Amino acid sequence: MSDNRVWSYSTVLMGSPVLLKLFSHDEALASRVFSLIKKYEDLFTVNRAQSQVMEINHAAGQQSVVVSRPVYELIKCAKAASMVRDSAFNLAIGPLVKLWRIGFKGDSVPGAQDIAARLRITRPQDVVLDDAAHSVFLTQPGMEIDLGAIAKGFIADRVRDYLHQQGVSDGLINLGGNVQTLGNPQGQWTIGVKKPFADADALVGSIEVANKSVVTSGTYERYFEQDGKRWHHILDPRSGYPLDNELDSVTIISADSLDGDIWTTLIFGLGVEKGCAALRQHEDIEAIFVTKNRDIILSSQRQFRFTQCDDSYHLIDCTV
Ligand code: FAD
Ligand code: MG
Repeated sequence: MSDNRVWSYSTVLMGSPVLLKLFSHDEALASRVFSLIKKYEDLFTVNRAQSQVMEINHAAGQQSVVVSRPVYELIKCAKAASMVRDSAFNLAIGPLVKLWRIGFKGDSVPGAQDIAARLRITRPQDVVLDDAAHSVFLTQPGMEIDLGAIAKGFIADRVRDYLHQQGVSDGLINLGGNVQTLGNPQGQWTIGVKKPFADADALVGSIEVANKSVVTSGTYERYFEQDGKRWHHILDPRSGYPLDNELDSVTIISADSLDGDIWTTLIFGLGVEKGCAALRQHEDIEAIFVTKNRDIILSSQRQFRFTQCDDSYHLIDCTV
């Protein structure tokens, strides 16, 4: 499909809509990009019985497993994010994700005892890495690594690198929540920030960026309702229940989508005030918070320009 010299190619991978935009008609390149994403999905997925991550999980409590470089590097990075003090990010969250099944058939609120039992096998320090051997060992039986909160970011960056290698200077990849942009001969890319719990195309605002990643995590993406409450898929590794605070969504603008993916989860755990304070130490990471009581809060606005689209929200710019 082409619109204004932009060609769009779409498919479904990782259970998510995938969209590639290019400024030339190149079906073959689009198909190579989708194959690259599929190659990484096959390494990282925990939604099928077989993958390199599943090999590690199957061997939990028994033995270490030697893995390929991308799998080792992503796990190392995910472990580092999990070991940050008070981090809401936890790469060993797998047993709880599988218990809740949020976004999959059969999701329901588990019993408190089941949650407590699974919490005991979600300690990131029990993921033991060996840099020399490129091996990973889960020390407790039943442990499971889940890279669902970080893999799309890693893959979006690899797509950007691949497009650069192929001589493509302008383009966009959207992995469903993770957008990575390369240049744009027509100026900036405009990326929508979705309105939580509204129609799929309703926006609270849009941002203009170039050569940046835009990652959004929201409580409205995957959830179910039970006992008059919404239960969404970003779990609090301390309680084992979905993170419950003032936030509906967080959007991170950064150079690498990997950072964006990590920070959306970290910020979800911190909330607005502590999240803004944490970002003051990280100039190249910026956030847009959308809260339940209809505030849109910009931590800063150095690498993008925000335009509000929905007047029922109140815009707070922390830079001014
Ligand atoms: P994010 O907020 O970035 O991440 C939320 C996800 O991270 C959760 O779904 C959970 O998996 C995990 N998580 C929850 N809490 C934490 C925490 N505290 N710390 C760390 N991680 C946490 N979906 C399908 O429906 N079918 C599929 O076959 C399928 N295959 C996939 C294969 C791969 C390789 C990947 C990366 C994803 C796949 N998915 C699939 C989607 C996946 O199940 C998640 O819904 C998706 O990764 C969530 O990404 P997000 O950006 O929406 O949310
Ligand atoms: Mg994430």
